[in-house]
Amino acid sequence: MRSLEGSYDAVVVGSGPNGLSAAVRLAQAGLSVLVLEANEVIGGGTRSAALTLPGFLHDTCSAVHPLGVGSPFFRQLPLEQFGLEWLHPELPLAHPLTGGRAAVLQRSVVATAAGLGVDNRAYERLLGPMVSDWENLAAEFLQPLLHVPARPIQLVPFGWRALRSAVGLANTWFKHEPARALLAGLAGHSFLALAQLPSAAFGLVLGMMGHAVGWPSPRGGSQKIADALASLLRSLGGEILTGFRVESFDQLPSARVILLDLTPRQLLRLAGNRLPRAYARRLERFRYGPGIFKIDYALNGPIPWKPEPCLRAGTVHVGGSLEEIARAEGEVCEGKLPEKPFVLLAQPSLFDSTRAPLGKQTAWAYCHVPSGSSFDMTQRIEDQIERFAPGFRDLVLARHTANCAMVESQNANLIGGAIDGGAATLWQLLARPVLSPAPYRTPVPGLYLCSSSTPPGAGVHGMCGFHAAELALRDHFG
Ligand SMILES: Cc1cc2nc3c(=O)[nH]c(=O)nc-3n(C[C@H](O)[C@H](O)[C@H](O)COP(=O)(O)OP(=O)(O)OC[C@H]3O[C@@H](n4cnc5c(N)ncnc54)[C@H](O)[C@@H]3O)c2cc1C
Repeated sequence: MRSLEGSYDAVVVGSGPNGLSAAVRLAQAGLSVLVLEANEVIGGGTRSAALTLPGFLHDTCSAVHPLGVGSPFFRQLPLEQFGLEWLHPELPLAHPLTGGRAAVLQRSVVATAAGLGVDNRAYERLLGPMVSDWENLAAEFLQPLLHVPARPIQLVPFGWRALRSAVGLANTWFKHEPARALLAGLAGHSFLALAQLPSAAFGLVLGMMGHAVGWPSPRGGSQKIADALASLLRSLGGEILTGFRVESFDQLPSARVILLDLTPRQLLRLAGNRLPRAYARRLERFRYGPGIFKIDYALNGPIPWKPEPCLRAGTVHVGGSLEEIARAEGEVCEGKLPEKPFVLLAQPSLFDSTRAPLGKQTAWAYCHVPSGSSFDMTQRIEDQIERFAPGFRDLVLARHTANCAMVESQNANLIGGAIDGGAATLWQLLARPVLSPAPYRTPVPGLYLCSSSTPPGAGVHGMCGFHAAELALRDHFG
């Protein structure tokens, strides 16, 4: 096992968006920082690679970034100067339905509502106030939930609607299929059964962000987010070492603080005997959610969607009605493989010519599956796409598939193929990974967690890293 000499103020283990954000925040404060990354390439969930054919560039993990473009921390950083350029598709999201129809999330709440027929007014009443207040709401939920809110009264209407199931919210607010299906697709990002609390919160937040800041992707792929953070870090004097898997604290150079962009299971493995038994037991109770099956496509042309708006959208939610999506997600949560999975699909090359050779396209698609599943979902995913885009299969030049084990083999944080750092149940939104107003701090002096297993959880926003770094600065360098 390789060990490193030297001395730093801070060592960060893992170069995902949270690890890099923590490192940037610490370097901004004038600390000497070293980031250690197991893979040869930095970025964790923000990497891009040529997975299929020459000239086609794919996002290995994250592809669509409402949380990135809206992140309070990223918005403070000069990431554009380091090569990050957000490209906004003409439409953030389309959701095909039977009969050639689609529900469409546009940037404007009014225009979106106008496409939802009789649910027009209800949609405006539900989303409109949230979108007007999005910066305050985002600041509230992008931190540990155990805190005193700055404006508690304003949070009541949001909390009342968000702390329920997506099915409950959709059926209370909406009468017809398009609005219900749109909300179901948004809530499907939660990995929860849609009859489970608080799946509605995910739908509302992602919808709100779609209107407020859009659902963009970086020109040149998600890797550009990691590369911009890394270049900024280096400009502040920080160092990054790749190809270095940390298996013991004995490998690390001396440091006043260590921040782990890892999940609780890895913390237990690394520091098990140093952790007080009671804390270790709390970490052992931390639960990981379902996994994913992912396909990246090299295509001979754009996906031939029947509903026209899908041809202009960056993201397409493929699953049909609320009932169908709820059934698929419910089955996954019961440990079953859905016959008709809910497929999250992005088509970045429609809006970014750097992703594919002229005239060709890429697509990124995944569905949820039970944790650790090795079943090949290719046919089921493609059957779903074909329902709304007949002839899709004829366009496939190459596909790269990844089951749960393959997903985890690319990044040790993706336990059992779970991409969210731990299930987003109501309890684990509060206790992430333990119930505390400062859940980043471990009982070992100077040791912090900064991954998406801490608040505010999954997504490329860097806020877990930012909050962990702020706490470490207050604790040790204040
Ligand atoms: C397929 C997929 C699709 C996604 N889609 C989206 C999306 O569209 N939009 C969005 O916002 N989010 C998306 N996400 C989620 C998002 O990528 C994650 O929430 C985010 O990357 C978490 O960041 P992190 O820094 O906490 O951890 P990670 O990004 O997982 O980074 C952890 C890093 O630590 C490294 N590491 C692990 N163990 C060690 C060790 N022992 N020593 C050294 N290094 C180690 C890993 O190699 C990795 O680089 C997706 C994730 C996946 C996998």
